[in-house]
Amino acid sequence: MQNAVISYPRIGALRELKFALEKYLKKELSKEELFQMAKELRKRHWLSQKEAGIDFISSNDFSFYDTVLDTAYALGIIAKRYKELNLDSFETYLAMARGYQGEKGDVKALAMKKWFNTNYHYLVPECDSVEDIKLNAEKILNEYKEAKQLGIESKVVITGFFTLFKLIHFQSEAIKEEAKARLLNAYKFLLIELNKAGVKWVQFDEPYLVHDLSIADIALFKSFYKDILSQKADLKILLQTYFGDVRDIYDDLLILDFDGLGLDFIEGKESLNLVKKGFSADKILFAGLVNGKNIYKNNYQKSLNLLKELEKYAKNIVLNTSCSLLHVPYTIKNESKLDKGFLEHFAFAEEKLIELKELKELFLAKDEKHPLLQANLRLFEQKENKKNEAVNKRISELKEADFKRSPNLKQRRELQKAELNLPLLPSTTIGSFPQSLDVRSTRLAFKKAEISASAYTEFNQSKIKECIKFQEEIGLDVLVHGEFERNDMVEYFGESLEGFLFTQNGWVQSYGTRCVKPPVIWGDVSRLKPITVAWSKFAQSLSSKLVKGMLTGPVTILNWSFPREDISLKQSTLQIALAIRDEVLDLEAAGIKIIQIDEAALREKLPLRRSDWHKEYLEWAIPAFNLVHSGVKASTQIHTHMCYSEFSDIIKEIDAMDADVISFEASRSNLSLLDSLKEAEFKTQVGPGVYDIHSPRVPSVKELEEVIEKILAKLDKEQIWINPDCGLKTRGKKEVEASLKNMVEATLNIRKKL
Ligand code: GLN
Ligand code: ZN
Repeated sequence: MQNAVISYPRIGALRELKFALEKYLKKELSKEELFQMAKELRKRHWLSQKEAGIDFISSNDFSFYDTVLDTAYALGIIAKRYKELNLDSFETYLAMARGYQGEKGDVKALAMKKWFNTNYHYLVPECDSVEDIKLNAEKILNEYKEAKQLGIESKVVITGFFTLFKLIHFQSEAIKEEAKARLLNAYKFLLIELNKAGVKWVQFDEPYLVHDLSIADIALFKSFYKDILSQKADLKILLQTYFGDVRDIYDDLLILDFDGLGLDFIEGKESLNLVKKGFSADKILFAGLVNGKNIYKNNYQKSLNLLKELEKYAKNIVLNTSCSLLHVPYTIKNESKLDKGFLEHFAFAEEKLIELKELKELFLAKDEKHPLLQANLRLFEQKENKKNEAVNKRISELKEADFKRSPNLKQRRELQKAELNLPLLPSTTIGSFPQSLDVRSTRLAFKKAEISASAYTEFNQSKIKECIKFQEEIGLDVLVHGEFERNDMVEYFGESLEGFLFTQNGWVQSYGTRCVKPPVIWGDVSRLKPITVAWSKFAQSLSSKLVKGMLTGPVTILNWSFPREDISLKQSTLQIALAIRDEVLDLEAAGIKIIQIDEAALREKLPLRRSDWHKEYLEWAIPAFNLVHSGVKASTQIHTHMCYSEFSDIIKEIDAMDADVISFEASRSNLSLLDSLKEAEFKTQVGPGVYDIHSPRVPSVKELEEVIEKILAKLDKEQIWINPDCGLKTRGKKEVEASLKNMVEATLNIRKKL
């Protein structure tokens, strides 16, 4: 029995890579210094795996920005606009990642998309010509040699052909067809180069295989790999999958001449059943048992039982992580504020190495009384401190009616029209206003107890005043308080709820070298006291216009946290839903007539297989949202907001959330969603974002009028709201003020014509 790691985090225990790259970009570090620092980091990461006794350690899992980008770059998939800049190789790479604006031109970066069902974003390679598709194995070989010098015979990791091919954006079908053969050649050359360099194992990452696959997909995969595998010579090839199971192609994978097959037994619900159908005697099973996505300790007994089962079918097993460890923070060693009683339940990347080592030891020892096993068992018995009986009782007593708001949408619309007295095309914003330096530094000072609670309150109140005054001046119809008191839309609520824990350094890469620090759901969630009511009440007291209450919804809070593993996601979400429900009712009681419940991340965790969407997710996610707002009066208007525009395929479900108004990101997708809304006879009122807040650009009045006209052409004028496409907190004050002024002016101009 051996063990392995699919890929290791590259950002560094204290985000060293991020800080170094930022310094380089500000010209405070030379390229040589940056590269030297990257080399040091790789060394550190390899050695910690070696010291932990990992048998299969990966090389080429490092990246300055993203490994899909690295693969595209290595294969020469570089859009013309980058080549035409004539920059040196590293600068070209950075231009693809971040865009370029300077002497040599002005080009946009590659698009960014969520990496499967994670919060990591990959860069979408663009292929607009095939001539230059050609291997450049420099980085790959360098890293292999570097590891070798440290005494590590690494397996070389690279994104596999099939996954890459599915993710590339091809400019035309013709280019796509031609690219196939060229890519095949480039991969073949790669194998030749790796053979020459003495590499023993290559790992092709093929997570795309866990989707529902078409017959054409399967044929493409098979024909490519048949060809590739006939050229492998002395290399051993590991086909690595993760984020689910490979039920559509398992039998074919067994027949193909792979030396190792990596399956995910954490997210792959069918993986065990597949292996039970049979496994091939000449392959090694890389069994992904140590969760690469969550931070809770492995349950050794469970893993050992699974291994015992697998052993009946696979002679050769390598104990593996379930996916790259990129998706968990680096180490608990830098957490000084959390009690040991909590930390002993956590395993970040470094601690997962220890788990791999211990599991291997336990598996070989076959001793029920082994102290390591006993200690682990004890951990899983201490669950009491996580329980809150009252919350669970409340959930068990929920009735169907608690998930249904009444009267129906149409009747509510009439009542709200009378009560709220809003004009046609009401204008509003999504909630947050710029988090300027003073906002962030004052919050930090408060957290460090350098200023008193009352000074902090006073500061925020002055910001709210300013914000309300500005919105009144420019003539927005529904106002917001600005969210100055919030660091982050999830962390802010987590901090005010019972059941959450926060790390100091639990950073996880999200895009480029940027990281997020997800809260940990530790125990049953409950609300101890009102969270936002005082701020909203204060803001409303300043204006005769309506000010929206602003909350984050339960599904988003769950999706952007590390979830519990001892209760279901559904149960956890319902607990959060009840807490937010209480907040909604308190806001209403405090006189707030419009309440927005953001579900920014609702679409994000849709299962990768469409066939699982309903039973695995939507069946509880949508009711959880309903539970949050079903208790309000008919005249109270409920808004929600979503951060994506691609929900054509779940329109019915979104209507079933039964909010009165929904705003969403639409400006970048050219409002193509409007057609689907029309087609589906979408009933909820909608605010499709009229401009893109992810760019500092100020849209002109004319441009905004055109957008509004476009919306009017597709939707009923009584149904439309006017707003930007997301919160404004990352933007500068100047551009926000100018953009909003133009937005209101455009709205007024059009309204006059209606
Ligand atoms: N209300 C939040 C804000 O305006 C919503 C943020 C989001 O959608 N990501 O910042
Ligand atoms: Zn948003």
